[in-house]
Amino acid sequence: MRNIAHKLSVARGERPAALLFKNAQLVNVLSAETYPAHVAVDDGRVVGIGNYEEAERVIDLEGRYLAPSFIDGHFHVESSLLTVPEFVRAVAPHGTGTMVIAPHEYANVLGLDGIRYVLESSKNLPIDFFIMLPSCVPATHLETSGARLTADDLRLMIADQRIAGIAELMNYPGVLPGLGKSAGQNRGGKRQSDRRSRTGIGGQEFERLRAGRGSFRPRID
Ligand SMILES: [Zn+2]
Repeated sequence: MRNIAHKLSVARGERPAALLFKNAQLVNVLSAETYPAHVAVDDGRVVGIGNYEEAERVIDLEGRYLAPSFIDGHFHVESSLLTVPEFVRAVAPHGTGTMVIAPHEYANVLGLDGIRYVLESSKNLPIDFFIMLPSCVPATHLETSGARLTADDLRLMIADQRIAGIAELMNYPGVLPGLGKSAGQNRGGKRQSDRRSRTGIGGQEFERLRAGRGSFRPRID
């Protein structure tokens, strides 16, 4: 990775960028404007918007729109019944560039091997994937699953750069009456909190959230 001094010199126009998008119609999502622009990219990062002329590679967009891609903050690819690469083939053309996924059902059937499969099959694709470790495998003690994962099992995976934390808590009987223990409650290192477990909300509140008048989507600490 090139250092910041190199990127700044490219941004100032003193060195050619690795890639230059010329004649873009830039969608500036910060100012809510669109306007003509040239955009310089170096080492995989946008380093400047300005009157750049030279670059190792120039792409003339001839007035096409240039916009940041979408980030999908929570998804289960297996629910689409597609493999990860086939899912990307369907979704990437619509502008998704990054996804945070929770491979719960892969883990529920195949355990750690299912999570490893998702990690491997989501590499080197047009969408960047970050994976949340399933916190409840099986989802509850009432379920017959193909695997049973503990916090110690999940700890084996957490060093991977693309593991972003612990996924949502699905163990409903474990949350409200406090039955059992989920791997997500035994956390270490990177983690994703869940409002239900953190605030200890009761049944009425849970039903309100489940009815769609709120959200218990996890957030990243
Ligand atoms: Zn989910």
